[in-house]
Amino acid sequence: MEQELNPWRASEARFDIAADHLGLDEGLRKILRTSSKEITVHIPVQLDDGRLEVFTGYRVLHSGARGPGKGGIRFAPDVTLDEVRALAAAMTWKCAVVNLPFGGAKGGVICNPHLLSLGELERITRRYTAEILPFLGPERDVPAPDMNTNEQTMAWIMDTYSMHVGCTVTAVVTGKPLDLGGSRGRSEATGRGCMIVTQEALQLLGLKQEGARVVVQGFGNVGGTAAKLMAQAGFKVISIIEIDGAVYNPNGLDVEALWKHRAETGSITNFPGGENIDPGEAMCLECEVFVPAARENVITSMNAAGIRARIICEGANGPTTPAADEILQDKDIFVIPDILANAGGVTVSYFEWVQDRQGFFWNEDMINQRLKEVMVENFRRVVDCAKKYKVDNRIAANILALDRVAFAIKLRGIYA
Ligand code: GLU
Repeated sequence: MEQELNPWRASEARFDIAADHLGLDEGLRKILRTSSKEITVHIPVQLDDGRLEVFTGYRVLHSGARGPGKGGIRFAPDVTLDEVRALAAAMTWKCAVVNLPFGGAKGGVICNPHLLSLGELERITRRYTAEILPFLGPERDVPAPDMNTNEQTMAWIMDTYSMHVGCTVTAVVTGKPLDLGGSRGRSEATGRGCMIVTQEALQLLGLKQEGARVVVQGFGNVGGTAAKLMAQAGFKVISIIEIDGAVYNPNGLDVEALWKHRAETGSITNFPGGENIDPGEAMCLECEVFVPAARENVITSMNAAGIRARIICEGANGPTTPAADEILQDKDIFVIPDILANAGGVTVSYFEWVQDRQGFFWNEDMINQRLKEVMVENFRRVVDCAKKYKVDNRIAANILALDRVAFAIKLRGIYA
């Protein structure tokens, strides 16, 4: 089981299959199996009580072949260099599968943000930024929010970078507050992207959107937004699953009311508009669409056989293990793989970077329209690739991404 749950192994296995299909030579495989830069910093920070603590942070650039590094920074007590490496590589594939001119990067700081004050978080963020500063920049590496980091964190990074270089450089990070060069539509972008590719999948399978039953795992930025937008678009959201329980209503949940209920009570359970249900059972409800948008490794060899969805749209990174993938394929479940399904966030990050560099900002309709174009076009490319190579959608997405990155490396050649 431990093997099955190792994200680095899972992505390597998928990379190898895609590389075999493309007949990629060993040299290119070697380049793409290793990260191009790995920075580790140990940062002293004064805590509110006057004590000094040393925190460890990482920033990994997996590949800069197609452009500046792009990817989030996470704050968590269990961050490891291995995890950041795997996530940086995933960003390379994610950016490439939607054809953004970015490479892949990721960062992390080992800390427990729930035990730190705002002031302590600010000092950690600024010192971490100062330490990795030579490697950042709109043309070098452009961080974004990830687990436990947000708009405020990005504002601090932008300010620290700007103080060092002597002028305001908004394009050094994305996911900023709107008033500091952020983009309209960025916070909803990942959930919106999930909905767009789900709509494409329904159409492809000849299924109706109106009344299509949806189960969403995770009621945060991704799952919560996907549920809200899908309900607005006429889908029937029959169940929402959270860490402390799940709610179910076969006639469809009022997602906005559930949102309010959670804000008031701190939990989605005991919602008057639905009944409590066991989270494991909710995952196996019969539905048209299941959106795992909470965390990694939730669909495994232990529960995949019980899933009764026609489509799985992976809002989270790495929700399905390779062993589970085989089971889902046998059951003919249409999987929209994470690197495509949740690429809406980084796509609008790209729009934010473009707007910052132009100093010209687009309205929300334009953002959402362009997001749709990117998601739809590359969804279709992945489906075509799956047909061409006779593989599942996940391997197809990997093939498409790998082909684009390998082509860039070949065109550029090796500098010696
Ligand atoms: N952290 C997000 C992801 O994993 C967004 C990255 C970005 O916008 O650069 O896709």
